[in-house]
Amino acid sequence: MARIVQKYGGTSVGSIERIKEVAGRIAARRSEGNELLVAVSAMAGETDRLISLAEEVSPLYPDREYDMLLASGEQVSIALLSMALNAMGVPARSFLSFQLPIVTDERHSLALIREVGTERILRSLERGEVAVVAGFQGVTPVGEITTLGRGGSDTTAVALAAALKADFCEIYTDVSGVYTCDPQVYAAARKLARVSYEEMMEMAGLGARVLHPRCVELARKYGVNILVRSSFNNEGGTWVSEEDEGMEGALISGVTYTKGEAKVSIMGVPDRPGIAARIFNALSDKGINVDMIIQNVSRDNMTDVTFTVPQADLNRVVLLMERVAQEIGAEGVLSNSDIAKVSAVGAGMKSHPGVAARMFSALAGEGINIMMISTSEIKVSCVIDSRYTELAVRVLHDAFGLERGSS
Ligand code: ADP
Ligand code: ASP
Ligand code: MG
Repeated sequence: MARIVQKYGGTSVGSIERIKEVAGRIAARRSEGNELLVAVSAMAGETDRLISLAEEVSPLYPDREYDMLLASGEQVSIALLSMALNAMGVPARSFLSFQLPIVTDERHSLALIREVGTERILRSLERGEVAVVAGFQGVTPVGEITTLGRGGSDTTAVALAAALKADFCEIYTDVSGVYTCDPQVYAAARKLARVSYEEMMEMAGLGARVLHPRCVELARKYGVNILVRSSFNNEGGTWVSEEDEGMEGALISGVTYTKGEAKVSIMGVPDRPGIAARIFNALSDKGINVDMIIQNVSRDNMTDVTFTVPQADLNRVVLLMERVAQEIGAEGVLSNSDIAKVSAVGAGMKSHPGVAARMFSALAGEGINIMMISTSEIKVSCVIDSRYTELAVRVLHDAFGLERGSS
């Protein structure tokens, strides 16, 4: 007998038909003698619908009320799934996160899980029930509802698996595993049999939305093995686990992209000590995450500073930087949100030089201009015009031979 946590994403529970189908999968797994704990997302499209309702009322909604609204999506899907299981003769009970509780910090819409109460779930499992838990939501120590960020139900599942010492965590979604790139962008994408936590953390952080970045971080910290697979077929899926000899040892494991960032430039900045600190302190004081930074070589004691921020913060950042520019005597501020970041990720590049050069040549071969570059031990990222995103992903996938698995 194993204790298994399963997570079903929005498309997996997108209709009553799908919910019944998922209940059938859970029942089959339980009848093999396993204990089942299930984390569930809102039905497909529901979270987006709720956000557009909030924006219709007022784009300046309080974060607390945003979480109160968004958490309702998962309440519907857990109750329906639990009903479907009971209707099949499988005892099941649904739980909202405050009932366990899944305690988070106070950061509305981006909360971090601090602790998972296990008592009610353990009692439910002892009674032979399937415990069905609302994904994506948490509660602060003083009882305020929070949410974990878009895609956060994956993180709920891994936090449950860690707290309840499950044997492993299955993430069911609408593709058959983790691929060498988004299979919806390039049909040549190849499913990986295994991928290390380290690589998956980079891929998730750089846009492979199949797993929430926080969930991979937690899985690594607590040693939870994740199996990503489809709820629409019975294929084997991808194991995400500690790196071992069984892994492919490829130079590049995957190519990712994200269109969620924007670029801001401060032009004609006086080149003297303390100016960069002034700019970036202003951003960090407002809790704004800066990703890439470039400072040009100075000419006549003047330089330009360019950096990227989440697109959602762009308006605030421009206002803030216009003020800072005036204070430091810079010439002005430019911004561009039509950008994308494409990245090549792979543990193999630690020991093999030349990845960046290969990437730049491949993009140049298609006439794609690179605006910014950043590298780490296991990734190279380039900022490009967002019009060329899909082309860039395909070109890089080909350049690294990912279709064949022989980079
Ligand atoms: P769910 O609702 O099940 O959580 P998501 O939409 O969050 O599903 O994540 C699944 C999607 O992630 C897939 O449909 C796929 O388009 C996208 N995706 C992006 N990059 C990758 C990748 N490298 N491997 C697999 N899927 C990816
Ligand atoms: N329902 C939430 C979202 O759409 C959480 C999730 O699906 O993981 O972002
Ligand atoms: Mg998801």
